[in-house]
Formats: sequence, C-alpha cells, structure tokens
Amino acid sequence: MVRTCTYSALILRARSSGESNRDLWFLTAEEGILRATLFGGPKSRLRAYAAPFHQGTLWIYHDPVRDSRKVTDFDVTAWRPGIRERYERSAAASAVAETILTAHGGGGEWTRALDLAGRALDTLERADEGLCPEILIRFLWDWTDVLGCRPELIRCGSCACEAPADGVLWYVRREGILLCPACAGGGPETWEAGNRGGRSPRRDSGDYLPLGPGARRWLLSADTPDPSRPGGVPDAVSLAQAKALVTDILAGLFGRPLGTWDEL
Ligand SMILES: [Zn+2]
Repeated sequence: MVRTCTYSALILRARSSGESNRDLWFLTAEEGILRATLFGGPKSRLRAYAAPFHQGTLWIYHDPVRDSRKVTDFDVTAWRPGIRERYERSAAASAVAETILTAHGGGGEWTRALDLAGRALDTLERADEGLCPEILIRFLWDWTDVLGCRPELIRCGSCACEAPADGVLWYVRREGILLCPACAGGGPETWEAGNRGGRSPRRDSGDYLPLGPGARRWLLSADTPDPSRPGGVPDAVSLAQAKALVTDILAGLFGRPLGTWDEL
C-alpha cells in the first residue's frame, strides 16, 4: 500500500544523489528523523526548497514494499536566508543539525525537539557573530534536557547541599553529576576555588570540570540569549565552562564529541 503523509518538517541535511536527485534528512514532529529523496531536474520548483534549515509542511509518498520515501511537495514557511550570510551563523546551525541527527531526533520528544531547533535557528538567522556560540551552547543545554541527561545545577549530586549563588560546583565526568567542593574531595575546600583557578590533586586529574556561579546562572536563566536580560550575557570563562559541560555530557551519550561543536 503506497501512501502519502503530511509532516511538520525541518531539513537538517541535503546531499546530491544521482544526476539530479537530492537526498534529504528531515526532523519531523510526527515521526522524528526521516530520510526522503527529491526527484527532479534543475527546473524543478522544489529544488530551491530542498536546502538545510528550511522548515514547513512536507508531503511524502511512502512505498512500504521498497521502504522508499519520495518528497512530493514542501511548503516552506521559514527560509532563514540569513543563516547562510555569515560563517558563524552557518557553523552554529550545522552543529545544531548534526547534534539532532546524531541523537536520532531526540528520543521521541519530536515536537519539542522541532520547536527547540526552530527557535535556535530563528535566533541564529539574525544573530551577530559574537552571539552565535552562545546560541549553540544554549541549544545543546536544552538538548541535554530533551535527552533526559541534564544534571542538577542547584544542589550537590551527592550530599544534596544547596550551592551558594557565588559557589562553584564540580562536574564528575564519568558519573554525570555535579558535586560540592567537599564531596569533590581533595585539598582545602572552598566554594570559590574553581573561580580562582584553584586546583586539587583529585580535581586536577581531568575527571572534573568546574562550573562557576556565572555559568550556572546563565544555564539556569531564560531560554533565548538576550543581551538586554539582567546578568544574561555570560563572561568568557562562564561560557567556556558551560560549553565544556554540555559538550562533555552529549559526547558521553553519543560516544564521541562532534567536530561541528568546535567550528566557531
Ligand atoms: Zn556535596
């Protein structure tokens, strides 16, 4: 039985296939990641539609016997041409797309995944170069929540003491939890040690990542990067700590870090 289905879809990747066809990978709200082929010569109206980061309503013709999918129409509602205008936007958008593909669409939470991806790409489309890494890290942090592997940022994952607003927590890479200085062990314990670049033998092993108050505040704050938000712009150290945390969490889940995370 051949059937046509309609999806709310975002193109994550496009590859040429054969002389004039194109293989497309979509994130759909209905079925997660779908791969489909767009057939057609250079004059095909749909060709111009089949580019990464375009989003809209998609019609696919599915042949279950061959298990092949063919794009029959794509009504693009978000084109996002601004993403291609600057390298940083495009690099961050590619990292968003690769993260979603590697995570197979987000483990079933496809509507939310599509919403988060769409918002990140909409923000990137208008972003200054300097804001692009922040938007990507924010998206990766949201993605740890989609995948259910986001650690607690307020309390120590071992003794459950509440971290002071100006305190540092230590992320234990193998366990995926954040610890207070006392539970992280070794050396004189102060909440500020990570801020001053303080080290202890155990933490120096590379198994621990510091997460200072600026990074925690930023990760805990509202969803979209907004320079006008009080305390909303992270300093370079906080942003680097937040990035190290989110990429370590996702790399642990994926079995490897993604190259696109470091391209901007
Ligand atoms: Zn503790």
